[in-house]
Amino acid sequence: MRRVFKKVRHVEYDYKTIKNPHFDPQQKLQYEYQGFYYPQKEYIQKEIPKNTYRSSSHIEYKIKCDYCGGFGWVRRRDAKFCCGNCRKLNYRDNKLKKS
Ligand SMILES: [Zn+2]
Repeated sequence: MRRVFKKVRHVEYDYKTIKNPHFDPQQKLQYEYQGFYYPQKEYIQKEIPKNTYRSSSHIEYKIKCDYCGGFGWVRRRDAKFCCGNCRKLNYRDNKLKKS
């Protein structure tokens, strides 16, 4: 078993949602009462959602392949084959044996 860290693109939302619970709407209201105009640099910072990269993990399991006999890292615990290629070849072989 191992843990793989992957960089995933994540969008930060400007509104209070389940994904962004710490957003306070009073900060945004202050800007709106001052006037709807503010410089472009601030507009981009405030209004457009930020695209940030965050690392997320996923657990992988080491299994022995039924087709090629080698080891492979898979995300499913009860997997039989190391990759999709082995799975397809195994299916093709069984089909030829039957006919
Ligand atoms: Zn294999």
